[in-house]
Amino acid sequence: MSERKAFELTPKEEDFSRWFDEVIFKSGILDERYPVKGMYVWLPFGYAIMEAVMGIMERLLRETGHRRVYFPGVVPQSVLGREFEFIKGFQDSVYWITRLGTGPAPEPLALRPTSEAIMYEVLSRWIQSYADLPLRIYQIVPVYRFETKATRPLIRVREIAFFKEGHTFHATLEEAIEQVELGVKIYRQFYDELMVPYLVVKTLPWDTFPGAKYNIDLITIMPDGKALELGSVINFGDLFSRAYDLTYMDEKGERRYVNTTSFGISERSLAAVIAIHGDDRGLRLPPKIAPVQMVVIPIPKAEEKEPVIAKAREIYRRLKEAGLRVEIDESDERPGYKYYKWDIRGVPLKIDVGPQEVKGGYVSVARRDRVERVKIPERELVEGIRRMLEEYESALREEAKRYFESRLTHAENFDEIREAISAGKLASFAWCGREECAHTVEEEIGYGILGYEEGALSGKERPCIVCGSPSPHRAWIGRSY
Ligand SMILES: [Zn+2]
Repeated sequence: MSERKAFELTPKEEDFSRWFDEVIFKSGILDERYPVKGMYVWLPFGYAIMEAVMGIMERLLRETGHRRVYFPGVVPQSVLGREFEFIKGFQDSVYWITRLGTGPAPEPLALRPTSEAIMYEVLSRWIQSYADLPLRIYQIVPVYRFETKATRPLIRVREIAFFKEGHTFHATLEEAIEQVELGVKIYRQFYDELMVPYLVVKTLPWDTFPGAKYNIDLITIMPDGKALELGSVINFGDLFSRAYDLTYMDEKGERRYVNTTSFGISERSLAAVIAIHGDDRGLRLPPKIAPVQMVVIPIPKAEEKEPVIAKAREIYRRLKEAGLRVEIDESDERPGYKYYKWDIRGVPLKIDVGPQEVKGGYVSVARRDRVERVKIPERELVEGIRRMLEEYESALREEAKRYFESRLTHAENFDEIREAISAGKLASFAWCGREECAHTVEEEIGYGILGYEEGALSGKERPCIVCGSPSPHRAWIGRSY
């Protein structure tokens, strides 16, 4: 048993936080031993998963007319400074470069905390007339934030290694509104493909980026009962254009401010995948993003070694030729050890090949979410394996859906909200839309409102949880990261 220790995890139900860290480090996603707090080394396995995750995102962005760019990672204080006017305390979370080589920097330079300022500085030269609009660009870059709250791998880090930020530019506010809808649609598809269930909510106006029109968030709930923001889509209107003098000439020859939006996601998307699908044996990766979709494990007996190895290699080759991401594990480790090793990495299928299988002309396949093995005849190998991957994927999706539904509840009064939150859930309630009612709820409950579904109760209004007036909105509250 001691050899399995490297793959042993604290049970997820017992201590989610410990389980989460252990699974990330023991499965080989991140190395936590880098000597800067809140920054992690991405190991080849972790990087391969993130490449697949970002691959889905990039596909969705390209299909909708967004083009990838790269803007420098350093921004002068005078350029970034215009953004400070909007967010109080923003400069305190910035990494500053104050020395250049052997001397002091003439002007402090910031390590990219976000890219609005960096881009807008240049875009005023790209955008001249209405013919230059709309413009839809994105980049996937690291961003730096000096987090003062406790750091957590993938969730709260000081170097966000995979920040996908989309920035779009439009002639009219109406077009910016449509763009936000498109951004939300892209995020919905993205998380559907990752099989991460979510709520789509609008941020309360007074919690929105100061001066922005509105902000739509996707949120999910983690197994410890805390809400996790998965992505945001923000409609800035002409807020930034006024600050950075970003204008265009309309058809009548009049100068107008550009309307802008931005939308971002990060490796938090992977945090949600790990947290929601994983179990006590480790990761359970959706086949779409699993760097290894299946592993062939030869289990030879001493006197029958050669035919077993030969058969296992043949199976491996056939699957590889079919375009599947397959590995073969010919190491000398015992089969039990190999199962643990591949299970913690979330490999969807394990394919055993032993003397029985060679004789019978089949392989024995175990899904990551099940113990029992299924026999697949060699002549139907590829179809059989593909079918099992699909079945596994829908099982995982269903499980995630059931999990999510079990963690959401509708409350009619404050006691029901408290009860739900202490049971590890998020609670929804009817809200009239008035600021004072929202504040009353937050004061009573002691947590912030996560957002609201605008008009979700239209036509079947319920009494506001505070003032009792007929309310069209459904608001959500609970603990959060
Ligand atoms: Zn009210």
